[in-house]
Amino acid sequence: MKIYNSLTRNIEEFIPNEPGKVSMYTCGPTVYHFAHIGNLRTYICEDVLEKILRFSGYDVKRVMNITDVGHLSSDADTGEDKMVKGAQREHKTVMEIAKFYTDAFFKDCEKLNIKMPDVVEPATNCISEFIHMIEVLLEKGFAYKAGENVYFDTSKLKEYYVFGNQNEDELMVGVRDDVSEDSNKRNKNDFVLWFTKSKFEDQALKWESPWGVGYPGWHIECSCISMKHLGDKMDIHCGGVDNMFPHHTNEIAQSEAYLGHKWCNYWFHVHHLNDETGKMSKSKGEFLTVSLLESKGYDPIVYRLFALQSHYRKPLTFSYETLDQTAATYKKLKNRIAAVKAEGDVDEAAVKEWHDKFAEAVGNDCNTAMGLTLLYDVLKSDLNGSTKLKVIEDYDYVLSLNLLKAEEAEDGDDELSAYVEGKIAERAQAKKDKDFARADAIRDELAAQGIIIEDTREGVKWKRA
Ligand SMILES: [Zn+2]
Repeated sequence: MKIYNSLTRNIEEFIPNEPGKVSMYTCGPTVYHFAHIGNLRTYICEDVLEKILRFSGYDVKRVMNITDVGHLSSDADTGEDKMVKGAQREHKTVMEIAKFYTDAFFKDCEKLNIKMPDVVEPATNCISEFIHMIEVLLEKGFAYKAGENVYFDTSKLKEYYVFGNQNEDELMVGVRDDVSEDSNKRNKNDFVLWFTKSKFEDQALKWESPWGVGYPGWHIECSCISMKHLGDKMDIHCGGVDNMFPHHTNEIAQSEAYLGHKWCNYWFHVHHLNDETGKMSKSKGEFLTVSLLESKGYDPIVYRLFALQSHYRKPLTFSYETLDQTAATYKKLKNRIAAVKAEGDVDEAAVKEWHDKFAEAVGNDCNTAMGLTLLYDVLKSDLNGSTKLKVIEDYDYVLSLNLLKAEEAEDGDDELSAYVEGKIAERAQAKKDKDFARADAIRDELAAQGIIIEDTREGVKWKRA
């Protein structure tokens, strides 16, 4: 298995600390709002990475945090706490907001066939661990108190910019919104480990600490939560490319200062989802969520396929036109698979051979496009039907595109289907004739019988109410 390592900027042979075992950490969501499909691209690619490792025989333990405190509106520790802003916006408590958006995040993940990590830990569960790490950093001289906050002293490190990315403009991608300077900092890149005083006095969640009542900085969460569950040496840390700086840079700084040795060997970063104008920002135009795509008639799995068609290290451009193309591709692919009949005996040797080919293809730095090409090769091959289906099932462990799941409409009541389809055709004709009253009457007639019809980009769909 080969993987691109952001730390060395090279594609490397993947060698875990312990043979056969992989410890993997993923930066989780800040649960103050629905997840944007751009963020979900990162989670899809991380899911694929985990499944490729498992497909290749590794025993994987994957941990993810939930950020429910400490992430300010700028990643550089200025601005208001995102959770507090979310609570104010919706007139709820911070914990209600955290619960609601954590559930919403995992619902989105489920729709996208993203496996739940083995461990999911909210930051507010680990306050004592954060305090312990900060105490050690103070003892070792890597941290200082100023203005009633505790800061990490980046000047004490031999090397701070570990990702070699010293272009200020590029570095500032994660530092949006408010970039007001904090005069307590001794060095520009120093960051907050513990706040007892911020200019925003309405912080909802606060805890006792040796430095007064306050709350943790964002970066310390991931260092502590990963070490709590994965020990002091980790194989792979994942995240979006905008987490590289300052978040991951700061995680490495404080973790290695605390441990006194190298912490994580491989860093996996997924690139942005852009719209046609450039970076897709949450503040510009339509806020793209899984629910929004569903309301427009897209199966969320079509978005997963859209993400898998491109390489995770390339920016991906989103448009409804390309998503429509992907929806058509998905439908054709499903139809081709549905036409494969389970005939003949499964040729186990062939299944193994195709398994190994796929492991090699996708194991080359998560080349999912190559994996999809192999899937078409299986369909084109002269394997018998039963063997093909077995291989497709095997590949779908990684791809997770519901390739063998029958379409819902097909297993409904035939007589009812025929009746509703007839009504839908009648309504389409009425619309064509500009007889909108008639079209609406047909819709209402069906509604009265418990049938809901929806106009979607892929045509009219119907379901039982
Ligand atoms: Zn993180």
